[in-house]
Amino acid sequence: MRTVFLIYTGGTIGMVKNPRTGTLEPLDFDNVRQHVPELSELDYRIRSYQFQPPIDSSDMRPTHWAQLVNIIARHYDEVDGFVILHGTDTMAYTASALSFMLEGLGKPVILTGSQLPIGVLRTDGKENLINAIELAAACDGSGRPLVPEVCVCFGDQLLRGNRSTKASAERFDAFASYNFPPLATIGINIHYNRADILRPDPTKPFAPHTELDNSVIAITLFPGIRPQIIEHVFEMPDVRGIILRTYGSGNAPQQPWLLNAIACATEAGRVVVNITQCDAGAVEMGLYETGSQLRKAGVVSGGDMTIECATTKLMYLLGQGLPSETVRRLMGEALAGEISEK
Ligand code: ASP
Repeated sequence: MRTVFLIYTGGTIGMVKNPRTGTLEPLDFDNVRQHVPELSELDYRIRSYQFQPPIDSSDMRPTHWAQLVNIIARHYDEVDGFVILHGTDTMAYTASALSFMLEGLGKPVILTGSQLPIGVLRTDGKENLINAIELAAACDGSGRPLVPEVCVCFGDQLLRGNRSTKASAERFDAFASYNFPPLATIGINIHYNRADILRPDPTKPFAPHTELDNSVIAITLFPGIRPQIIEHVFEMPDVRGIILRTYGSGNAPQQPWLLNAIACATEAGRVVVNITQCDAGAVEMGLYETGSQLRKAGVVSGGDMTIECATTKLMYLLGQGLPSETVRRLMGEALAGEISEK
């Protein structure tokens, strides 16, 4: 019998309405089981762990990611796969962070949640939970897991975690992956996109990491952004990494104040990464003069990474105590399938 380890962190999936105040409040994980009696019909052994107290995912922090890594590492050899029940708001950040922190992962880690609480009649939570468990347990004829990656399972799609983003606060298919195809589509049958699923390198052992450095900031450029504010942020002593959310294929104003601020930050050892504000497509800094200027000032291209992925990858790399030059180089390389090769 396959064994799946379920980690309940919180979020809408495990919430009920407080009849007195009308607000949604987390319930005990036992109640999730009570609301999904189908769980006992599954032919898998399910073990579980619950965050105490369960949290709204807006309260997720790097220490929670480290906690998840520790739980996974502790039970890694005993189970076939993991399901993490998580609020949708920051699920893409957690999935991205875990994809780097769980280096050499050889088992499925499937994150899911729901738009409607599990106790509500039209809930999407039951379906998402049951699909996620199926995917975490799925294996081929020789017992090898079908998706040994950190993934987001939501609606009818299984997405690579570090390619996913929350795209709708309303629809049941809340998550999108604009720059990479789904790893599986879920209908009457589950169709696996085997060609795109990462296979673990047998020469590399599972190596969990818990160190992250959150001295990073993401800045969204907009017409009229004040130079003094940019200069101030770029000079802040606590900042070690800056994600610049630029226009289109990586363009920014060609103003001396911006280029100088970037050059000084780079000189001081800070890592400045360029990602686009567009949902789909990639930064190509050689395409326009503005992009070339950024590159000359020391900016590295984040290619087609999502904001969630770029932010957590920078935290992860800075947390490994690597020299700035190595962090810059690795930001442009695929460590866990997060960036498309050119
Ligand atoms: N605020 C909730 C959370 O992210 C929303 C959800 O679960 O979908 O925790």
